[in-house]
Amino acid sequence: PPMIELRAAGLTYPGPPPVAALTPCDLKIEDGEYVTVMGPSGSGKSTFLNIIGLLDTPTTGRYLLDGFDTAALSDAERTGVRSATIGFVFQAFHLLPHRSARENVELAMLYQRVPRRRRSQRAQEAMTRVGLGHRLDALPTQLSGGERQRVAIARALVGRPSLLLCDEPTGNLDSDTAKSLLDLLSDLHRDGMTTVVITHDVQVAARGQRAVTIRDGVMSEPGRRGDDA
Ligand code: ADP
Ligand code: ADP
Repeated sequence: PPMIELRAAGLTYPGPPPVAALTPCDLKIEDGEYVTVMGPSGSGKSTFLNIIGLLDTPTTGRYLLDGFDTAALSDAERTGVRSATIGFVFQAFHLLPHRSARENVELAMLYQRVPRRRRSQRAQEAMTRVGLGHRLDALPTQLSGGERQRVAIARALVGRPSLLLCDEPTGNLDSDTAKSLLDLLSDLHRDGMTTVVITHDVQVAARGQRAVTIRDGVMSEPGRRGDDA
């Protein structure tokens, strides 16, 4: 089955007044794809990411993850599947300010039953993977913006997710730093990571294999056969 399959999945916030944030849509994302999601502010991109990231539940339709209907999951199971399967990267890096880079990455494994010694080792591996093996003990304030976002990516990777969800990952970075961060995402994708990146930047969107657009809660994929291009 596809890794991600939305079947007429949509979300309306109850309000009042109710807001149709995502109109029922169909989408399949296969294992190993790199998909970008573009659209203006308030168009429903985060709502979409929250649904596929198991942070929110569609109010209509179905979301199948690896062929399994996520509606069948209890809250505890959703949390478990989320932490075992999905890594998140946000625009604001959300690092704990008084913890070293290594500790920030290690803390992501708190809810996985990884022994302490293995946690430290895996944090180091993830930091090395993002090119920061030499900055393990740095505090976030001692790192540049680009480095902080790399730490955030290491934190997302350390749980060995099969899906990486990024919400405006370069939104706080200058263009050179953004480019090198996008190179890192491309590397991860080349190594097999299924990658979904939300952006309003066409340069960022150009990095993916598929570009989905959301406008006023309506998803489309211009250029894909059978779509409304
Ligand atoms: P984007 O990520 O594209 O900026 P969002 O998915 O955050 O868009 O929001 C889509 C729409 O849903 C917007 O109109 C927004 O105001 C609304 N919205 C988002 N979150 C909530 C919420 N918790 N309650 C009510 N409306 C919301
Ligand atoms: P980048 O080009 O990746 O954004 P910078 O030019 O901002 O990097 O930083 C270069 C080096 O200086 C990096 O190794 C970074 O960790 C370090 N550095 C940046 N800001 C600070 C700071 N406020 N305190 C200590 N070190 C810093």
